[in-house]
Amino acid sequence: MDIERPGAEQWVPSDADVDRLRDAVQGCRGCELWRGATQAVFGDGDAPARLMLVGEQPGDKEDLAGEPFVGPAGRILSQALEQAGVSRESVYVTNAVKHFRFEMRGKRRIHQRPDAGNIQACRPWLEAEFAAVQPAVVVCLGATAGRAVLGRVVKVGAERGRPLDSSGRIVVVTIHPSAVLRLRDSGQRSEAVAGLAADLRVAAKLARDVDTA
Ligand code: SF4
Repeated sequence: MDIERPGAEQWVPSDADVDRLRDAVQGCRGCELWRGATQAVFGDGDAPARLMLVGEQPGDKEDLAGEPFVGPAGRILSQALEQAGVSRESVYVTNAVKHFRFEMRGKRRIHQRPDAGNIQACRPWLEAEFAAVQPAVVVCLGATAGRAVLGRVVKVGAERGRPLDSSGRIVVVTIHPSAVLRLRDSGQRSEAVAGLAADLRVAAKLARDVDTA
């Protein structure tokens, strides 16, 4: 076993609700990321929820605020949810990795993608959220979330917007909202938000189908 990354298992209380998990995650030492971050950022939203959205990791603003998707990517996500006709209050939003991974450049904290070891170490928190939230459909926002949820490398472009199966769980993969922010052209941005909204619409319909089955 990697001594630096024992994994989160021993810090995750069993059969806990979201509030208890949110408290417990602050003590997690399952990988090295807790050292540099301000705090762990747990999921947000009511439980149970029919849709659970999984992102990558908290960004700079989320790390400071202690809440997921409150920065620029969060605004894109809210926009896409609105276009899809899904209220943000009705979904549970979280990240695959609960602490912010970054490198310092001067005084700035620059986002670094969590590696496979971080994703694996943090996976018990995601499993505990699945158990507490009981989503009908899980939406993976980007490749890191896809890897965390599906347990394999995910090609977002090829697999997005259709139902995938993960051990009996319905999963839909789409882009991470931050991918929209990287586009310079406003037309391309609008198109990307519309694409994200279309994938969210698919997920919402699948959740409704589960409810009426
Ligand atoms: S990133 Fe996850 S596994 Fe690593 S310390 Fe934070 S909560 Fe624990």
